[in-house]
Amino acid sequence: MPELPEVETVVRELRGELSGDVITSVEIFRSNPIVQGDCDLFQEQLRGRKFLDVTRRAKYLIFHLQPERYLLAHLRMTGKFIVCDPLPKPSKHNRVLFHLKSRRVMIFDDIRCFGTLEVYDNLADSKSLLKLGIEPLSSDLTSDFFMKRLASSKRAIKTVLLDQKIVVGLGNIYVSEILFRSRIHPQRSAGSIGKKEWPLIIKYTKKILVEAIENNGTTISDFRRVDDKTGKFQQFLQVYDKNNHPCAKCGVPIQRIVQQQRSTFFCPECQR
Ligand SMILES: [Zn+2]
Repeated sequence: MPELPEVETVVRELRGELSGDVITSVEIFRSNPIVQGDCDLFQEQLRGRKFLDVTRRAKYLIFHLQPERYLLAHLRMTGKFIVCDPLPKPSKHNRVLFHLKSRRVMIFDDIRCFGTLEVYDNLADSKSLLKLGIEPLSSDLTSDFFMKRLASSKRAIKTVLLDQKIVVGLGNIYVSEILFRSRIHPQRSAGSIGKKEWPLIIKYTKKILVEAIENNGTTISDFRRVDDKTGKFQQFLQVYDKNNHPCAKCGVPIQRIVQQQRSTFFCPECQR
């Protein structure tokens, strides 16, 4: 599942591809992504609109259109955007095609079909965006924020960092890496994380996300960039998916455990 660096990579690439182009028509092959339900309205709302910008909030892509309107997209498990010219043979996983004035096509492709597309005239009307926590790369991510919010939390630190209502954009891959570099055991309660440990978590959260964005994200299975290339950050992972491999720091085998039905990878020696 794409996490913040993968979505940010897609956003940057789409911004470069789309700015100034115009949607001439929208073709819907499968209605599942259209969460607001009305496919005719969706097509009508987007026809003739020009792309001004593409930005990100949490793992949502926000297409800014002119006259003012917003297309909000979430990739979920396997969603991806491809901008191509000319249109290759349509794949059976192409869900929605956006035909562009430049004669190119932006394809929303989604194997599992959990991805979503929504249209708003005002972003404040989107309930999805309202419930989100803070952006990890913003200055809002501070030790004070965590300590106030989580002082008496008994939830595992791994689970808390995955909670999109607290911090957005982090998933299994990056949280495993952040806790490894911070030398914190993933099952420790968030309330037990000390004054000197929160700054480490914050430092490595920012550092790992920035490095991952510089490497165009991590491709483990499905993630592809807009041009169908893969990300490169998987080469720098130290614990994720390394079950039984020796830890790069101490040589002890990396362990896999399951927390809330999701895999966590950690070094039992380095993370106590
Ligand atoms: Zn180790």
